[in-house]
Amino acid sequence: MPDAAIIDGKAFAERVRAGVARQVAALKQKHNLVPGLTVLLVGDDPASHVYVRSKGKATVEAGMKSDEIRLPATASHAEVLGTVQKLNRDPTVHGILVQLPLPRQVDSTAIINAIEPAKDVDGFHVINAGLLATGQDAMVPCTPLGSLLMLKDRLGDLAGMNAVVVGRSNIVGKPMAQLLIKESCTVTVAHSKTRDLPAVCRGADILVAAVGRPEMIKGDWVKPGATVIDVGINRVERDGKARLVGDVDFAGAAKVAGAITPVPGGVGPMTIACLLVNTVTAACRQHDVPVPPV
Ligand code: NDP
Repeated sequence: MPDAAIIDGKAFAERVRAGVARQVAALKQKHNLVPGLTVLLVGDDPASHVYVRSKGKATVEAGMKSDEIRLPATASHAEVLGTVQKLNRDPTVHGILVQLPLPRQVDSTAIINAIEPAKDVDGFHVINAGLLATGQDAMVPCTPLGSLLMLKDRLGDLAGMNAVVVGRSNIVGKPMAQLLIKESCTVTVAHSKTRDLPAVCRGADILVAAVGRPEMIKGDWVKPGATVIDVGINRVERDGKARLVGDVDFAGAAKVAGAITPVPGGVGPMTIACLLVNTVTAACRQHDVPVPPV
């Protein structure tokens, strides 16, 4: 039996989504404004199709307008770019999400940076990354935002805590570190060249794992009582069955940690909930109306 409290991301995400649905209803009633999200999916990656379906379903359930544009895996860079530019000009589209990964012939960075920053609900545009890095109002990437909401819900004020983020990607590790700096944590960002990673992790009051390696972070790397956020989603085979596991050895870490997110049912559902939060924020900013209180 785990000793750690399990942070139920699914239940928390349901609360966030219910709050978003109330905000959307208020925007419709007061401002005749229906926030709209369009997801652009290029190619046939099965996991991407699953993610896009879940995002569309959650958007509709919150009362928002949801659209999906599909392009074939053979689509050229120019075609993808042209589609993004058309969405930038469409006033009924408040949020644009380009599902990653894109096929090889498409320059992902150029496509992300072609999205109008105000519509960049993934928060990956260089302008939004820069705003976040300088502590200004930005579209914050959904996975780090969801992780932060869970941390604050669990721990309250994070000021002064030692946070270790394992992973330095632009979509998870770096924005997570920026958010924790903004909360006045003392932040260490670890990566594949970090020396003695177990010792670095053992210093963490807050340990965020965003590595992409199944169960790499072991129980004896976790400081007793620490809060562990496992961002990893890894598909593995166990006893002949396909399973999802995180970057943390859940059974081992749960014996030591104070609280831990499970995989699945932790960060994943919060990522989708935060996409809805960002779409509402984007719609309000574009129409210059205040974000309704939750
Ligand atoms: P990336 O592959 O872009 O980045 C992985 C990071 O982990 C890199 O910074 C890399 O270091 C570091 N790393 C790799 N191996 C080691 C190691 N042995 N020791 C220390 N650090 C290491 O992955 P993402 O950030 O995109 O995703 C990370 C995980 O989060 C994946 O499992 C992904 O599926 C999951 N994910 C989950 C989401 C959710 O909604 N829950 C959303 C997005 C991602 P270096 O830079 O030196 O190479």
